Amino acid sequence: MTALEKHVDVAVIGGGPAGISACLELVKVPGIRIALFESEAELGGMPRCCHVFFGMRDMKRLYSGPQYARKLSQLVRKTRVDIHTNATALQIIEGKEKSRHLVKIATPEGLITCKCKYLLLATGCFESSRESRRIPGTRPAGIYTTGSLQQVVNLQKLKPGRKALILGSENVAFSAALTLHRAGIKIAGLVSEDSRLQTYPLAAKAISIAMGFKIFDDTDIENIFGKKRVEGATLIRRSDRRSFEIDCDTVVCTGKFRPDAALIYQTSIAEDQDSRGPLVDMNYMTSSPRIFAAGNVLRGADMHDICALEGRQVAVRILDHRRGNELNDTNRVTLSVSAPLRYAVPQVIFLNRARTTRTSCWSPGVSVQSALTLKRVTIEAWSGDRKLYSKRCSRLIANSRFPLQVERFDWEKADLSKPIMIKVVEDQF
Ligand SMILES: Cc1cc2nc3c(=O)[nH]c(=O)nc-3n(C[C@H](O)[C@H](O)[C@H](O)COP(=O)(O)OP(=O)(O)OC[C@H]3O[C@@H](n4cnc5c(N)ncnc54)[C@H](O)[C@@H]3O)c2cc1C
Repeated sequence: MTALEKHVDVAVIGGGPAGISACLELVKVPGIRIALFESEAELGGMPRCCHVFFGMRDMKRLYSGPQYARKLSQLVRKTRVDIHTNATALQIIEGKEKSRHLVKIATPEGLITCKCKYLLLATGCFESSRESRRIPGTRPAGIYTTGSLQQVVNLQKLKPGRKALILGSENVAFSAALTLHRAGIKIAGLVSEDSRLQTYPLAAKAISIAMGFKIFDDTDIENIFGKKRVEGATLIRRSDRRSFEIDCDTVVCTGKFRPDAALIYQTSIAEDQDSRGPLVDMNYMTSSPRIFAAGNVLRGADMHDICALEGRQVAVRILDHRRGNELNDTNRVTLSVSAPLRYAVPQVIFLNRARTTRTSCWSPGVSVQSALTLKRVTIEAWSGDRKLYSKRCSRLIANSRFPLQVERFDWEKADLSKPIMIKVVEDQF
C-alpha cells in the first residue's frame, strides 16, 4: 500500500447529515480547505436507507430518506470540498498544542494520512446487535438490525425472509415494520421488553392494526432456534413467566442505539460514561483541543435534522476558533444524569451561554433522553442539595430528546466545582 499525504484546514469524518451539513457551512468561507471522508460508497449516511419525514427542521421541506440523502450529497458535491468515499478513518493521532492532528484513512487507492488543523467526528450511531443484547439460542442466519435489514431491502432490493419477529418498541421498530411490510415479509409480532412502549402508544397501536401484527409488551425473547436459518423464537412474558413459541424465519433487533465512537478509544479524547460518545462542551469541542463532534456520534440517537443543524452549528464554532475568537468560558460546569435518564448532551455547560440560550425543540441544544417511557414526571436539576430547575412533563417518551432549558436554571445557586445532576421524579403532580 502506498501512503498518500493530505493537508487540510478541516477534516470531516462521516458523510451523513451532520458531516455534510458542517461541510456546507464551512465551505462558505473562501480559501478554507476541507476534506470529507465517508466509509460507504455513497454519501448521505443513515437516511439513504430510511423511509419518510426527512428534512423538516433543516431544509424546511419534507423528503423521503433517500431523497434527503441524495439532496445533501448533490449539494456538497457542487462545492470544492475534497470528497473521499470508500474511505474509512482508522486512527486519530492528536496534535500537541498548535500542531496538526493526523488521521489515518484506508481508501481503495491506499492509506491516506490526513493532516488537519481541525477535526470533526460525525460518524453517527448504530443499533445494539443480537450478540450485545445477549439473547440465548443458536446462531442461525436471518437475524438483522433495522439498519442491516433496510440496507438489504431498500438498497439491494432483496426480500430476506418470509415471516419476521421484531424486537424493540422505539420509533425505529415501526420503521422496521414498514420496511418488512413493503418487502412483502409477514410480521410475526413485535416484542417489547417494557410494559410501556418506547414510542407514542396510539400511533404504535394504529400501525400494528394496519399491518396486522400483535405487540407483546412486557416480554423477552427467551430463545432463538434454528440450524442454518431461524426457525422460530420462544418468548416469555415477564409478569407470569409464561413462555410460548413464535413461528418466524427472521428476527429484527431494533434500537438501543449506541454512538459509533470507536475512533476515540485509542486517544485521549474523553468518553462520557452515560452517552458512551465523546464528552463535548457547548461548542461541541471534545476534551482534545480543535477536535469537535456532531450528530449521533454524540449519543444514540437523535433525529436526522437535529444532527444536520448540529453540523452547521459546529462549523460556525470551528470558523470562530479559526478567526481567533475565544470559545471557552471559564465559568463552566458539567452535567450528569441519574437513571432512568440515559445522558445529557452536551455535557459541559458555559454559564454565560446557558443564560442567553433559547431552548427550542426546533434546534439543537442541551437535551436529555430517558431509557423508559414515563407518565407524569418532573425533570429536575440539582447542585448538591440545591434545586436549580424543575419542569413537569405529562409523558416522557423513552429514547426521545427532551430539551433542557438551561436558561431557566437558577445558576446563582450552583456550585460550579461539582456536576449538576439531572434527574426524573415520578408522580409529583
Ligand atoms: C437503522 C436506523 C434507522 C434510523 N431511522 C431514522 C429515521 O427514520 N429518522 C430519523 O430522523 N433518524 C433515524 N435514525 C437516526 C440517524 O442516526 C439520523 O437520522 C442521522 O442519520 C444521524 O446523522 P449523522 O450524520 O450523525 O450520522 P449518520 O447518518 O449515521 O452518518 C454517519 C456516517 O459516518 C460514516 N462513518 C462511520 N464511521 C466512519 C469512519 N471510521 N470513517 C469514515 N466514515 C465513517 C458512516 O458510514 C455514515 O455514513 C436512524 C438510525 C439508524 C441506525
